[in-house]
Amino acid sequence: MSFIIKCLDCGHNAPYYPTSTTCPKCNSQWREAEYDYEILAKTLPEKIKNRPLDLWRYRELLPIRNPNVSLSLGEGGTPLIRAVNLGMMLGCPNIYIKDERQGPTSSFKDRQASVTIAALKEAGITEMVAASTGNVAISYSAYAARAGMKLWAFVTSLVPGVKMREIALYGSQVIKITGSYDQCKQVAAEFARQRHLYQDMGARTITSIEAMKTIAFEIAEQLTSIQGVQETNPDLPWRTPDWYVQAISGGMGPIGVYKGFREMKQMGWTDRIPAFAPIQAEGCAPMAHSWKKGLEKAEPVLSPMTRIETLATGDPGRAYEFLREYVNSTNGVFESVADEEAFRAMHVLAKMEGISAEPAAGVAFAGLFKLIRAGIIKPSDTVVVNCTGHTMPADPSILGENWSRDVKFPTREREGTPQEGLLSALTQVAPERFPKIAIVEDTTEARRLIRRILQSQGNFTILEASNGREGLEMIQRELPDLVILDLMMPEMDGFTVIEALRSKQETATIPVIVATAKELTPDEKNRLGDQIQSLMQKGDFLNDEFLEEVKSLIK
Ligand SMILES: *Cc1c(COP(=O)(O)O)cnc(C)c1O
Ligand SMILES: [Zn+2]
Repeated sequence: MSFIIKCLDCGHNAPYYPTSTTCPKCNSQWREAEYDYEILAKTLPEKIKNRPLDLWRYRELLPIRNPNVSLSLGEGGTPLIRAVNLGMMLGCPNIYIKDERQGPTSSFKDRQASVTIAALKEAGITEMVAASTGNVAISYSAYAARAGMKLWAFVTSLVPGVKMREIALYGSQVIKITGSYDQCKQVAAEFARQRHLYQDMGARTITSIEAMKTIAFEIAEQLTSIQGVQETNPDLPWRTPDWYVQAISGGMGPIGVYKGFREMKQMGWTDRIPAFAPIQAEGCAPMAHSWKKGLEKAEPVLSPMTRIETLATGDPGRAYEFLREYVNSTNGVFESVADEEAFRAMHVLAKMEGISAEPAAGVAFAGLFKLIRAGIIKPSDTVVVNCTGHTMPADPSILGENWSRDVKFPTREREGTPQEGLLSALTQVAPERFPKIAIVEDTTEARRLIRRILQSQGNFTILEASNGREGLEMIQRELPDLVILDLMMPEMDGFTVIEALRSKQETATIPVIVATAKELTPDEKNRLGDQIQSLMQKGDFLNDEFLEEVKSLIK
């Protein structure tokens, strides 16, 4: 294993000791691992091929001398999932989700914890201190348990109780700090100093950055196996996306992921680094706000005003300067989103893709929606969004009211026949008749998307037809409460269907929403005239707006 630790300030090279956290020459805390890229470029691709897809697949590019399989919990190797429904809703078909929820403790901190704890164990450390907004402490606790290490976990009192209890369950000592996360870090640092304990240094921890970069390697390998090699340069082994989108707090994730893409480029495995889009919560967005002001150093946020505690780093320090350089050099952007936008994105992601992400990860998706709407991410771009953590369990305040329907058996149920009790219970589950909605749409995927949007937000009887003629017959037979109609269809187009509906008394007043993939010409708009109630452009309707339209028309 050949690597050295290079100081980012004075360039001094030193051997690696996990416990020495500063440059021996200039005392800088900002250093990174450097490998023999020339040799690895030639030897590694062959070696990697037959290894399982997990983080240790790239072990020659990690600062661990002897990877210890007994510590492993199966970290890394998370799937890259195509977001077909989101892609259709946003008009951006190549959206992929790097599903870091599938790590051993359900967040991408598992990469950081597994590599860091492995290094500390190699160095003989048996006790350590970490400040955390929740997930770091959970993950370190799990790996510390396997490594026989004690963890002092300093968390802010805003960390959800379920997360604190999980930390305690692994046997770590939880210390609750009533104060900001930045204050919590100060207390942890002082405690570690007094007790001479090793303290996790966040983005300045060499192993953490090294661990996070494996996300980049995996994305490139997975994208290549899905999309094939790059058309413009088929000789390169790996393809990279156009965008990497991630919700950030201190920014360790994107700093590591950037290093991964940079190393790939250095080794000639790819020729492009994606544009970086770090997303922050609006109430604690020192990096996004400072970047928009063109500042070289971040203005700290002293009192974060976000309910998304996971992302509450108010003072990013030098991490901002590194990230700013990466964002600028890749033509990326910093963005921020309101908590409500993140919660809404969580709902959309869960309902449309079956992925239950925590609010922090919701921030990344809300950022994605914003950047696509602003035209910054283009419809033809390939985008990878890091789904950094799982929502477990779902917070009641995020779900809102009316998410369940209660069924009570009548108290005298035992006297009647069991069948009767069951029937009366079932009438409480749902009324017999739901509003009927007809979807007339020739593309299977678009039909599925519209059906899914309707299913996820209300109770409707959904009828479907795949061409205009079939659709017209169905509408005349079933007399639905609402029709959602495509215009360009085989057999009979949408215009003809509308004209046929309006010409007959029974169907003349059924409201129609036209959902079309194309921009209408003035002639076509004229032809529709006032015969329809609403026109929706496919691609730019997010389900809430669409549903409001549906609900208002159905009454
Ligand atoms: C830590 C964390 C983040 C922020 O990560 P950084 O790259 O360190 O800023 C985002 N989402 C989740 C779920 C996290 O646990
Ligand atoms: Zn130095």
